[in-house]
Amino acid sequence: QKILLVFGTRPEAIKMAPLVKQFSFFPEHFNLKVCVTAQHREMLDQVLDFFEITPHYDLDLMKKGQNLFQLTADIILGMKSVLEEFKPDYVFVHGDTTTSMATALSAFYAGAKVCHVEAGLRTFDKLSPFPEEINRQLTGRISDIHFAPTVLAKENLAKEGTTSRIYVTGNTVIDALFWATQKLVNYEDEEIRYLKSIVDSSKKLILITGHRRENFGDGFLKICRAIKRFAQRTEVQIIYPVHLNPNVQQPVFELLDDLNNVRLIKPLSYPAFVWLMNKSYFILTDSGGVQEEAPSLGKPVLVMRDTTERPEAVDAGTVILVGTNEELILSSCERLLDDHELYQKMAQSHNPYGDGTACERIVNALIN
Ligand code: UDP
Repeated sequence: QKILLVFGTRPEAIKMAPLVKQFSFFPEHFNLKVCVTAQHREMLDQVLDFFEITPHYDLDLMKKGQNLFQLTADIILGMKSVLEEFKPDYVFVHGDTTTSMATALSAFYAGAKVCHVEAGLRTFDKLSPFPEEINRQLTGRISDIHFAPTVLAKENLAKEGTTSRIYVTGNTVIDALFWATQKLVNYEDEEIRYLKSIVDSSKKLILITGHRRENFGDGFLKICRAIKRFAQRTEVQIIYPVHLNPNVQQPVFELLDDLNNVRLIKPLSYPAFVWLMNKSYFILTDSGGVQEEAPSLGKPVLVMRDTTERPEAVDAGTVILVGTNEELILSSCERLLDDHELYQKMAQSHNPYGDGTACERIVNALIN
């Protein structure tokens, strides 16, 4: 069977990398090719390097001032040539990016079967997150096989009347995390050496990330004000790899630069980020992937969003939604720092996103 795996952003690459590895264990069953759209460039390449993946096709589409219209059109046209050349039986896409949606549509036009990894996540709010919710709904509508990370995600698809095959597999991000953690035992690079030099082991490390479009503007201002107030607690060290988007950089550097126990650093490559997650006490983030991976490292997560497509994590008690309200973010951080019982409960909760065998389940579904 001819399989084409397509991805374009850093989080997709992290979550598809272990699947590339798993497919490559069965050369007698699969002729596998990898295509990157490079919707993100540098951040994608770092992940490919770490996982030792060389794509067969690289559309290299990232442009300065990229907009969704141009990007969507470019992906569809770029995919046309790849699909015509390789003629895959199955095209695998992941999650909720413009790459996923436009590739799924292209694959459908080309007559290939579409397989959706991380299928069935929903907020059921068309505008939040934008454009991800619509991207995943459209991708789901087009797909022939859905690999849902959880039972709830499967139920979301069933509720929408999906009649095509759905497998519950766990999330491949845990497979990636375990692979990375193992590699990190004998791995050190410049970034990790730098982190070792700045981490103050006498303090509790609070790791922060944020990049969501829905938080741009007022949301990030409130987030930064809350962090600034929390930073007055001298027993914590806050490390914040700041996303390169100017909507994030501007408020963060304006409000949080030059504070004693806050380190603003460049976005980290995946191995360095995993290393830092492991060292952290808890994590404050608006990221989806981080919510899924942190519980496997026993790290509680406070999520700076009002809605979530990951209610399993809230139900399991591994994350708490704190929105973008300044007071709520501050009081939640203080509570998690001071309430040892709550901390232990969150840290020891079971990760609902799986046990690192998602890729095995996905590939087995195609073999059987
Ligand atoms: N990540 C990383 N470096 C960073 C921040 C995050 O490698 O500086 C990784 C993280 O481990 C996770 C993924 O990127 O696997 C999440 O990506 P992001 O938060 O950008 O997107 P989302 O998951 O919200 O789609």
